[in-house]
Amino acid sequence: MENIIKSENIVYFDNNATTKVDEKVVEAMLPFFSEIYGNPSSMYEFGGQVGKYIKDARAQVAELLGASDPQEIIFTSCGTESANMALRGVLEANPQKKHIITTKVEHPCVLNTTKWLEKKGYQVTYLSVNSEGDLDLNEFRNSITHNTAIVACMWANNETGVVFPVEKMAEITKEINPSTVFFVDAVQAAGKIPINVKNTKIDILGISGHKVHAPKGVGAIYIKKGTLVNPLIIGGHQERGKRAGTENVAGIIGLGTASILALKNLDDELTRIKALRDKLERGLLERVFNARVNGSRINRVPNTTNISFEYIEGELILLHLSDLNICASSGSACTSGSLEPSHVLRAMGIPFTAIHGSTRFSLSRYTTEKEIDYVINSIPDVIKKLNSISPFQKQLKELEEIKFARK
Ligand code: PLP
Repeated sequence: MENIIKSENIVYFDNNATTKVDEKVVEAMLPFFSEIYGNPSSMYEFGGQVGKYIKDARAQVAELLGASDPQEIIFTSCGTESANMALRGVLEANPQKKHIITTKVEHPCVLNTTKWLEKKGYQVTYLSVNSEGDLDLNEFRNSITHNTAIVACMWANNETGVVFPVEKMAEITKEINPSTVFFVDAVQAAGKIPINVKNTKIDILGISGHKVHAPKGVGAIYIKKGTLVNPLIIGGHQERGKRAGTENVAGIIGLGTASILALKNLDDELTRIKALRDKLERGLLERVFNARVNGSRINRVPNTTNISFEYIEGELILLHLSDLNICASSGSACTSGSLEPSHVLRAMGIPFTAIHGSTRFSLSRYTTEKEIDYVINSIPDVIKKLNSISPFQKQLKELEEIKFARK
């Protein structure tokens, strides 16, 4: 722990990757590591009493998601498990149907699961997006058949923040095939926009703790009463047999508290955080001629902006930002552990020279105006330096002239 980089020394703009655990969440969790460490399945009261706290946490998550009954909430280990449970659990429970619909821009927890399912003989439709990152609802409507078992669609995109009209899509689904299950990956939507599942036709919805200021290693899945989903993890009777394994009690308590805090902070998210994000975006677009925003600027969660610095390399940008203690993430490859440029930006038809220089800034309740100003004031020099060593000098000059002519 000697060479540790402390959070107070960094300017953190990567909240779509993970968030700081809220102090109130830590406080709520602590007793479950020490005084109240019993197993909720035990017969004696020291263990059994824990069940009451889990029940409260379930009600808190239900409140965040607007579920009418807390029994519709099952605790999982993360967003990835929730998505796997939805897809694999629904398909196993409905063996007669072999068609899945998803989009080209889903998180790998959905896309790699559907690829795996294709190998097992399922047919998958991958819906396209336009240059703004939006779906074509007619294409969606036309892709639903009597054989469609499940639609898996994210609410908000992790890279661009673009929001899909999932409530409308769930209605379309039920209109065409009432027995098709509609699953929403709401990992990047929870706590950022209002969610009220009871007023929708959404059947299943997944969230992840560490994206909403709860710890890593806990998630939840909402399953509307009556929806057939087989368990992914089989064993004991926990979570009413729907998700076996001794509960991550502290994590669950943390997610419950984080859910209530997320609800309390929703107005702040929709106003203050949005204003900070817009300020950051404006500041960079004004000062950097080769900056462009990727994705719809209207249809977005309030905390995310994806900006391409054209004709330069994302990795180089991130390394320079890291020297300035700024944490952000890149849409091009290595940082995300793959060698491929962002599948999301590719699906949107963004030119490769812009994808390579794409940088995602994602804010949270902890982001301050001072940090926004720091980023706005530091990045232009970084980009100027990188522009000067770019092999695309002719294109950069042309871009600069176009921008100059517009002013
Ligand atoms: N879905 C989306 C949209 C995400 O952004 C992520 C994580 O980045 C996940 C699912 C996976 O969540 P987890 O990290 O909890 O497995």
